Amino acid sequence: AYDFSDRIERVEPSATLAISNLAAEKEAEGADIVDLSVGEPDFDTPENIVEAGKAALDAGHTGYTSSNGIPPLKEAIADKLRGTGIDADADEVIVTPGGKQALYETFQTLIDAGDEVVLLDPAWVSYEAMTKLAGGDLSRVDLAPHGFQLEPALDELAETVSDDTELLVVNSPSNPTGAVFSETALEGVRDLAVEHDIAVISDEIYERIVYDAEHVSLASLDGMADRTITVNGFSKAYSMTGWRLGYIHAKGDFVGEAGKLHSHSVSCAVNFVQHAGVEALENTDESVAEMRRAFADRRDLLVDLFGEHGIDVDVGDGAFYMMLPVDEDDQAWCEAAIEEASVACVPGSAFNAPGYARISYAASAERLREAVDRLVANDLL
Ligand code: PLP
Repeated sequence: AYDFSDRIERVEPSATLAISNLAAEKEAEGADIVDLSVGEPDFDTPENIVEAGKAALDAGHTGYTSSNGIPPLKEAIADKLRGTGIDADADEVIVTPGGKQALYETFQTLIDAGDEVVLLDPAWVSYEAMTKLAGGDLSRVDLAPHGFQLEPALDELAETVSDDTELLVVNSPSNPTGAVFSETALEGVRDLAVEHDIAVISDEIYERIVYDAEHVSLASLDGMADRTITVNGFSKAYSMTGWRLGYIHAKGDFVGEAGKLHSHSVSCAVNFVQHAGVEALENTDESVAEMRRAFADRRDLLVDLFGEHGIDVDVGDGAFYMMLPVDEDDQAWCEAAIEEASVACVPGSAFNAPGYARISYAASAERLREAVDRLVANDLL
């Protein structure tokens, strides 16, 4: 009865959510699944943020806010961005219900039918879907042969981009690899973006989960302020996935144009959640540091456990993911992992990286050990 739009028919449902749903189904049937497929921290939202949310509800912050967000949050975001060297003003910010919405609005604001969008593979699943929903065409540079690093792939990136490229997406630290791109790599991106007049999305949602490296904000580099759309969110840094809070920062006309879509679609982010967001930005550094230490310990544990079985992983310096080299048919490997070993992870193919499985180590040390034991017992490692 329905004649679906071409736009929607070009897109597949989210592969990461599909695996999480399968894991949830098996759990509902009584199976004990070690779920390493999830893209969310396994910590509670820090107490001070929860209290700030409750206080905002009690204070009656339940109506619409101005579309781009409440002034104290936009100010706190601009302040935070200035902390990583970005020349930011509160007027250049749109507060969104999650980083995903921030990205969606950015693609819709910049991409016309047939415009070229360049991704660095393995890339987070939704960039492809968002490109297609906007009618854009994809070109891709594969970082897998380079240990998932961008610096050694700059020549390939230079061959891929041209004056016809509209948009490049950079995600450091990366989902799904955990790679943190070096300043030299980002300067290489800058040189190409300036040469070919390309806009760049810098998705910095894992920025606060960085271990032995330093996070560099792309928009802080000379020449990038006017061509970078910085996207960030509260989900990963503050364990606030279900609160749905994120933002866009860009200079010039960008916020005015993207703000049209924002106001006509979501109107605004949730009022009391925005108030909790101010508290998160201003008073949560200690909890963030604790979570970061826990993730670092788990990463090291997994590297050791895989090492004991002769498996070397190109482990990154950030986020809470790593790519485990598995069979060529990673889809079949992941199906066997969940069916036989009751361990859920996401096939690398979902990120255009066949031959790998993405492991999320947002799980306790005990569950990580259990997962490796089960995979070994079922001959999957
Ligand atoms: N960007 C990346 C790379 C992600 O992994 C995610 C979540 O998985 C998001 C953006 C969006 O997160 P949220 O919408 O919860 O802010």
